[in-house]
Amino acid sequence: MQKQTDVLIIGGGFSGITTAQKLAKKGVNITLVDRKDYFEVTFAVLRNVTAPEALGNQSRKLYRDFVGGDFVQGTIESMNNKEAKLANGDVICFKQAVIASGSRYPSLPLAKSNSQFDYVGRNQEMLDEHASLAAANSVLVIGGGGVGVELAGEIASAFPNKEITLAHSGDALLDSMKPKAQRKALEQLTAKGVKVKLNRRFTLNIKSEQKNEGGQYRCLNTNETIKADRVYTCVGMVPNTEFLRAQMLDVLDDKGLIKVDSFMKVKGFDNLYALGDCADLDDHKHGYLASVQGGMLADSILRKAQGKKIKPYKTPPVAIITPTGTDSGVAQMPFGVFTAKFLINLKQKDFGISNMYKMFGSEPDKLTERA
Ligand SMILES: Cc1cc2nc3c(=O)[nH]c(=O)nc-3n(C[C@H](O)[C@H](O)[C@H](O)COP(=O)(O)OP(=O)(O)OC[C@H]3O[C@@H](n4cnc5c(N)ncnc54)[C@H](O)[C@@H]3O)c2cc1C
Repeated sequence: MQKQTDVLIIGGGFSGITTAQKLAKKGVNITLVDRKDYFEVTFAVLRNVTAPEALGNQSRKLYRDFVGGDFVQGTIESMNNKEAKLANGDVICFKQAVIASGSRYPSLPLAKSNSQFDYVGRNQEMLDEHASLAAANSVLVIGGGGVGVELAGEIASAFPNKEITLAHSGDALLDSMKPKAQRKALEQLTAKGVKVKLNRRFTLNIKSEQKNEGGQYRCLNTNETIKADRVYTCVGMVPNTEFLRAQMLDVLDDKGLIKVDSFMKVKGFDNLYALGDCADLDDHKHGYLASVQGGMLADSILRKAQGKKIKPYKTPPVAIITPTGTDSGVAQMPFGVFTAKFLINLKQKDFGISNMYKMFGSEPDKLTERA
């Protein structure tokens, strides 16, 4: 099948949906393609695993229930500056394309699913993960960045009797945050009983696996070993840009990020844009930055069509809130680092779910609406 659209949007994450909704509202002919049939507020997935009853399936919503314009569920396999080919052989021809294909964590499917592309399957994946976690007595979290710190804290709050170890290769947690935030996060996790091991690089001890001794992890620099019932590897985020390799390899940098200019234009092309986690626009990869970029890109596309001047993108002031459990966390605001509950609650309340769907002109599904 061949389809024609004015603006093709590849990826319905924070950036792609923000662009899609704004353009569709203004009557632009858009087609959104995503391999999933649902949008998911990633911020909520860790709580979803540790306490599924708290938010249920409210972080997820079927695209067809709220996205303006056309939606096609499918995986883009290759593209050039005129057309994109899907895994089922369908081709979508476009005038302009927005690449918003984001990122994934190959070793941590609970963060962004690598296989459950339908709503019901994803809900079940989260429930299954919760059941495995609940059954474990000991947990090893590898990686002390934002995801690892938050996960260790969430597990400690939900299951205070589990033995939890958080191992990090650096000499402070939350590498990209300020020293006060790093210190406070360490204090808060330690107070919850999490054993934090810094300057440790743990890998699966293959030898022990061969001897059928179970999942034993060995530290490459200290040689110590840890055996845990459940291991979460919270490192190794990769951009979803493999589909550009065949015909557009030159647009990728050595990390696989799409090279763009300050107008989010893919370098060397006038009708292709890229933003969010898959582009080299911002060093920090955050959902809220991705939505700011998405809104701005939609405005630029609309202004360009009217022959109006377009402003370059400038990173807005960055605020990062990292909970370390249900009752603590660190908030790094442009004006300082804080641990005050009312700031942490900006994220904790419902993990941005209502705000995000409001921004998309919609609302979350009711807790009991879908299985
Ligand atoms: C556990 C966790 C907690 C987080 N918490 C926060 C937070 O509190 N605040 C914050 O700002 N950020 C947070 N982040 C980061 C945030 O989730 C990302 O920065 C954000 O998801 C990036 O949005 P995006 O639109 O660029 O891409 P994504 O959200 O990754 O969306 C990309 C979309 O493209 C689709 N796709 C990919 N490849 C293809 C293809 N070939 N064909 C078709 N479709 C494709 C995917 O299915 C996906 O729907 C968190 C991340 C994680 C993992």
